[in-house]
Amino acid sequence: MSATETFRARFGADPAGVWSAPGRVNLIGEHTDYTGGLVLPFAIDARAQAAIGPNGAGVFRVTSAQRDNDVISVAAQDLRPSSPAVKGWPAYPLGVVWALYERGIDVPPLDIALDSAVPAGAGLSSSAAVECAVALAISDHLECGLDRPTLARIAQRAENEFVGVPCGLMDQMASAASTEGHALFFDIGADTTWHIPFDTAAASLAMLVIDTRAHHSLADGEYAKRRADCETAAGQLGVELLSQVPFERLDHALAGLTGPRATVLQRRVRHVITENQRVRETVALLREEHIAAIGPLLSASHASLRDDYEVSCAELDLAADTAETAGALGARMVGGGFGGSVIALTAADRAGVVANSVIDAFSRAGYTRPVVRSVTPAAGARRDL
Ligand code: ADP
Ligand code: MG
Repeated sequence: MSATETFRARFGADPAGVWSAPGRVNLIGEHTDYTGGLVLPFAIDARAQAAIGPNGAGVFRVTSAQRDNDVISVAAQDLRPSSPAVKGWPAYPLGVVWALYERGIDVPPLDIALDSAVPAGAGLSSSAAVECAVALAISDHLECGLDRPTLARIAQRAENEFVGVPCGLMDQMASAASTEGHALFFDIGADTTWHIPFDTAAASLAMLVIDTRAHHSLADGEYAKRRADCETAAGQLGVELLSQVPFERLDHALAGLTGPRATVLQRRVRHVITENQRVRETVALLREEHIAAIGPLLSASHASLRDDYEVSCAELDLAADTAETAGALGARMVGGGFGGSVIALTAADRAGVVANSVIDAFSRAGYTRPVVRSVTPAAGARRDL
């Protein structure tokens, strides 16, 4: 069902319009965001659609093609963080309404129907897709004229404060502000973005996302520990954010770390600072349209996340290693680690072999069968109808 059909079937009227926003993949720049570092995500060709329209009901009503036949109704005065009136998935679209209120935008009661092709929990940021589709839909519908970075911040605020997930800004920025055939170079510390050419299809390349389906319970606790390590190291090095350490000063910085955990902190710092440098090198290659040449940088990112940052796991390593052995130009884990997905850049005519090799290797290892998808760099949030 499309968002329009869902809207008609569940609200009995035509929507005022339909907007959509994509999921995303982070090409390179992992575990750098909370250090004010560099990231290079791109929007993918799987989108969440939001059909919206005014209603005479005096309450907000939300429904999703992926959630049975439910229509959830919530009064405007019940839209506040941790309100018992909003539980589960409706917090994503309704959190955006709340974040718009917080910016002083008086959103009248609306009907919102969602229909998303972004799989949830596969590392493709289905949450940002939903948030950004709803944020642009309401902004356009009310003619607020909010720019893309502002929409991204509204979406992030919805997720941070209304849903209660402490995510950074990367996912929402990629979903709101990307352009087709480009990656989005986002310098988080400087708060600047650039569109970098990344047209995999034109280069006869394919980008695979291999969802290992593994989720180790370590993930949340270790994530918090890595963030704390980065803060400790930044403090010892006298910078506000760790990514303020220039790559050229890396050796000097490593020598400046002290205390009983100095060697651990050295590994963490080396990952973050070399990862920022790999992002810069990737951007330089892409600007010259040498897409195939970024493969080794992806693989080096994986090795750094595995050995220095220590956030990989057996499934992620097997997927990345097998992809490369089968002919991928480069492969790396993406996301927080301890499970989740691996991306692999391959020649388009090699993608099937790479995918099957990973599936076979997982079968031999006795792991859950991974889900392999091919994604292409797509447009950010837009009006569809
Ligand atoms: P992801 O990595 O995919 O963003 P999250 O846990 O951050 O995973 O977000 C997934 C959540 O977003 C879902 O559990 C659901 O609450 C919401 N969501 C995503 N897509 C939809 C949809 N099509 N309909 C309703 N809710 C959705
Ligand atoms: Mg998410």
